[in-house]
Amino acid sequence: MDVVNPSTQKVIAKVPVSTRDEIDRAVEAAKEAFPEWRRTPPLARARCMFRLKELMEQRFEEISRIQTMEHGKTIDESRGETRRGIENVEVAAGIPSLMMGYNLEDVAAGIDEYLIRQPLGVFGIIGPFNFPFMVPLWFIPYALATGNCIIVKPSSEDPISQVKIAELAEEAGIPSGVYNVVNGGRTVVSGMLDNPDIKGVCFVGSTPVGHEVIYKRCGETGKRVIAQCGAKNFLLVMPDADLDGTIATCMTSFYGNAGQRCLAGANLVTVGEGLSESEYNVFHKKIVDAFVDAASKIRVGYGLDQSVQMGPLRDKEKKEKVAGYIEKGVKEGAKLLLDGRKVKLAGDWPSTAFLNPTVFDNVTPDMAIGSEEIFGPVACIMKAKNMDQAIEMIHNNQYGNAASIFTQNGKWARKFQYDTQCGNIGINIGIVAPMAFFPFSGMKKSFFGDLHGQGTEAIRFFTESKVVIQRWF
Ligand code: NAD
Repeated sequence: MDVVNPSTQKVIAKVPVSTRDEIDRAVEAAKEAFPEWRRTPPLARARCMFRLKELMEQRFEEISRIQTMEHGKTIDESRGETRRGIENVEVAAGIPSLMMGYNLEDVAAGIDEYLIRQPLGVFGIIGPFNFPFMVPLWFIPYALATGNCIIVKPSSEDPISQVKIAELAEEAGIPSGVYNVVNGGRTVVSGMLDNPDIKGVCFVGSTPVGHEVIYKRCGETGKRVIAQCGAKNFLLVMPDADLDGTIATCMTSFYGNAGQRCLAGANLVTVGEGLSESEYNVFHKKIVDAFVDAASKIRVGYGLDQSVQMGPLRDKEKKEKVAGYIEKGVKEGAKLLLDGRKVKLAGDWPSTAFLNPTVFDNVTPDMAIGSEEIFGPVACIMKAKNMDQAIEMIHNNQYGNAASIFTQNGKWARKFQYDTQCGNIGINIGIVAPMAFFPFSGMKKSFFGDLHGQGTEAIRFFTESKVVIQRWF
């Protein structure tokens, strides 16, 4: 399988596509490695995490460059991704305390009771294309540190970072068979879902695949499952918001990673809370003008050029899908203020996968561009008379991944955090990405499962609790 650099359109690597038989062999190898790995003391497994972290730090630039080359994001975005990925390895290195159970003496006369956590065996981890390095690391270090073995299937579009992590894991002393990588698309996923020795699956990707394929099949076969899925995130701008800070934050939220983020801003809602109609129109125009001005200045090009602020879409098909939404928005009657289909690049690169930032005003929540996940650099600006109406817009949308409010008013901020049904809430934050020691949450069609990736919830996902009651005669 060729891996193509979306900025240069050159083939940068080839990876083998795993056959069904190879997947079964990988699971068999993991199953064989499990008894010894689970008996390895947690502190020894933690040392592997420390060594893995150290190796990742040593290769920090190399890993970051790989992400820019295989995905297209800017080098600074890749550095951010590498950092956030490593943080999960750091958190998992705390496994001796994270995995502890608890006990209580004399639950009845002379009887003690305690709870221990044990690993289950082999887990499958299936990644999306948009964060090829970091997303699988929401699960990998916790699965390993708790004593499980893993089969990782990165996105078929940008699998190199994951192959790199597996190489480093070997160097870090993680025994053969504990950590396996397979490559390919849906056939490989089917092979993983059908294998009875895989006890649970962590998936991050689109809602149709996450719900219809992963969640349902895991339910049928009794596998544990985390399925983190699609999004359509609303950002509310209140009349008292700090203009410069809000607009600067919005630029990274809407256009960072070329909009290919499950936490990206999608709909910007100006809220006229407490304003007369004419005051609201002035406020709305001020936000729209500042937004368009900033978006039109974003430098688009090859992410290895340090001055570039936005890279390409992952490939031509993804670009065409986003361009199709722009066309649809025009037909639906939204006002196209900045048309990213007119590609202007910093540097002489093939325009195949590139778009520039796009802005629509007069978008309503019933339009396809206002309700569906576009997953590209398109901002849809909307109006809401007050906070209740804005929150209702969020609740009427099928997704519930993230939502943000920009305000200086504590009462508005608290109401927003209290009422809004989304897994990740931002207050003057445009990309609500939880740190490694917090769970990566999600609601409605953005998440299927019970426990989330990262931190202590991941530890619970990768272990089963056993209760022991004892007495001595
Ligand atoms: P995708 O669903 O197309 O692919 C995800 C994974 O599933 C890939 O490894 C792919 O090879 C595999 N796959 C694709 N089609 C399949 C099928 N029919 N059967 C079985 N497996 C299949 O998603 P993507 O395009 O790689 O990623 C983008 C999506 O991921 C967006 O919707 C984005 O919002 C979402 N995402 C969500 C989060 C989150 O935490 N909620 C984080 C990152 C990305």
